[in-house]
Amino acid sequence: MKKKTALITGISGQDGAYLAKFLLNRNYKIIGVERKSSRSNNWRLEKLGIENKVIIEDLDIKEFHKINKLLGKYRVDEVYNLAAQSFVKSSFDNPIETANVNALPVLNFLEIIRNKFKKIKFYQASTCEMFGKQNKNKQNEKTKFHPRSPYATSKTFAHYSVQNYREAYKIFAVNGILFNHESPLRGEEYITRKVTLGLAKIVLNKLDCLSLGNLYSKRDWGHASDYVEAMWKMLQNKSPKDYVISTGRNHSIKDLINISTRILKLKTKWVGKDINERLINLDTGKAIIKIDKNFFRPSEVDYLNGNSSLAKKELNWSPKKNFRELIREMIQSDMEYVKSKV
Ligand code: NDP
Repeated sequence: MKKKTALITGISGQDGAYLAKFLLNRNYKIIGVERKSSRSNNWRLEKLGIENKVIIEDLDIKEFHKINKLLGKYRVDEVYNLAAQSFVKSSFDNPIETANVNALPVLNFLEIIRNKFKKIKFYQASTCEMFGKQNKNKQNEKTKFHPRSPYATSKTFAHYSVQNYREAYKIFAVNGILFNHESPLRGEEYITRKVTLGLAKIVLNKLDCLSLGNLYSKRDWGHASDYVEAMWKMLQNKSPKDYVISTGRNHSIKDLINISTRILKLKTKWVGKDINERLINLDTGKAIIKIDKNFFRPSEVDYLNGNSSLAKKELNWSPKKNFRELIREMIQSDMEYVKSKV
């Protein structure tokens, strides 16, 4: 059987690295798309031991004409479009750039595929942030979107473009509506990693206190290595369809912190209220976590919890690692990371 070729945009990111590893294990040839500026930043591929097993092409996702050439050059079978300005907080500061990276390049891919490469299967990285403001019901494929950030609105444009091209031109294009997924390869600015790395630094006396935003928003967090399998399964499906990918369990940021401090065997106590709420280390009597208004979003997303029963039924996909295992793995990795910097 012919070796399949996959093109992954955003290969230098968390999901790009895990997906590349997953596909290499299935004998794919991998073309990774990367901005020139990321070349020196391939630590994730290195950490997974695959930096020399993928072909990297320098390309900014906004360089529309180059995508066309690339798809022809490598006779690509599957495209995984993971490149994004993916940090929600930054999208409020840079809404135009966020839309330029997250929205229009998707339309560009779809146009090229429908005009020139109709056999290419296309995966778009949609997000639970599109659900935005919700009541306490779990969100599934039928839940109405209510995006609450420039990140979410840009992804919603891309999401509907994929659906539109699928219906109008019968191409194999799908959206994976993925809930939050984390790992030791998560960027340091994201809340899970910020907590696990920050607490590791505190335990190893490299940091006194960590400043955070809203402690009460709830997220459904899974492990990135489980979620890339779902991306692949969606492209092997009989017909193109969108799926919610999630664990079905959510936790607050405060839960995340409490689980982390227990893993690290820190004796702690929450004191104060609202903006003055803080976590005290009972051994030193000092605050190790406090609230900083600057980390709040202009419009918050309070509650996300996914229902992936369709993916379970039709793709036979379900998450393997639970939240505690995920956090334990991240903490172990961050403890080693901080020690290695000494
Ligand atoms: P990361 O932020 O780790 O990776 C994003 C990738 O996009 C990086 O490789 C980045 O490259 C690349 N990128 C950004 N801008 C450009 C550009 N202009 N041209 C080319 N590449 C660019 O995100 P994740 O791996 O966590 O997420 C993958 C995708 O899934 C994203 O689209 C994200 O929005 C989406 N998603 C993620 C979720 C999660 O919880 N992780 C949940 C739901 C959806 P560089 O190194 O140059 O910055």
